[in-house]
Amino acid sequence: MDDTRIKNILAGVLEGGGKLTVLTGAGISAESGIPTFRGPEGYWTVGSKVYQPQQMATREMFKRHPEHVWQWYLYRLGVCQGAEPNSGHAALAEMESLLGSRFALITQNVDNLHLRAGNSSQRTFQIHGNIFFVRCFAECRQAISPLPKGITGKGRDEKITAAEKELLRCPLCGNWLRPHVLWFDETYNEHYYRAAGALNVARETSLLLVVGTSGATNLPLQVAAQVYAASGIIIDINLEPNPFSRLAEQSALGGFIQQPAAATLPRIRDILKSLLKT
Ligand code: NAD
Repeated sequence: MDDTRIKNILAGVLEGGGKLTVLTGAGISAESGIPTFRGPEGYWTVGSKVYQPQQMATREMFKRHPEHVWQWYLYRLGVCQGAEPNSGHAALAEMESLLGSRFALITQNVDNLHLRAGNSSQRTFQIHGNIFFVRCFAECRQAISPLPKGITGKGRDEKITAAEKELLRCPLCGNWLRPHVLWFDETYNEHYYRAAGALNVARETSLLLVVGTSGATNLPLQVAAQVYAASGIIIDINLEPNPFSRLAEQSALGGFIQQPAAATLPRIRDILKSLLKT
């Protein structure tokens, strides 16, 4: 998809008073050094067994091995703490400041990089949660809190200490705290994940940019299907063909940009900027 075509699409959206929504997945953070769930880095050993992320990130696993699951999350937390937002994240923050209420961001990432880059929490729908937050595993209340002070990222083989185990207890009921993320054996809801809000955003979207997601989860596919059904335009940015690229190619005017996110999003931001100046 060349710049002229992108420019025509954006010009049409701006002239019609339409809204731009961006849906991101792990691919946008891959260039910040945070591995996606598809590479070998996600594998984790508990006792003599090797597990995949799709097995580690489950309620069932947490029930059986809470300490091991926490150890895996604290390793992932360390990776996120050591990462910086890249030019793709920065471009999205600038797009929000250019478009204001005509912009929304729906992200499956839990790494906090969009907010660190400058997107607002109001217009960022973190539909899989955020690894920097916790809540009570027993749900004695439904509050979401920042990680307790004293809990920080760990190296791959570092075990959690007795002091950390204490800190990872709910201060009200004494049960385990859990990472504030949607696990693979759980379902979306509005309270924790703003799922209904994200679908409402999709209903008002004229142009959907899908960035670095494989389409493995349900709500992102629903978001894209909603935009498609309302004859919105879909552009997919990914290194590999995927369910969103196929939908984008079928959508009116839309298409697939098979390029890295960190190079493509600044290009789209620059076109948007030039249109808003004229
Ligand atoms: P995924 O790992 O299933 O897929 C990643 C996608 O990104 C792939 O389609 C890949 O081709 C694409 N990609 C990789 N590098 C890219 C680049 N530079 N530019 C553009 N595209 C690129 O990720 P997913 O679809 O987000 O779903 C996995 C689940 O794992 C989600 O639920 C998410 O919450 C979680 N997760 C989050 C993070 C994070 O927060 N950074 C990291 C890993 C997994």
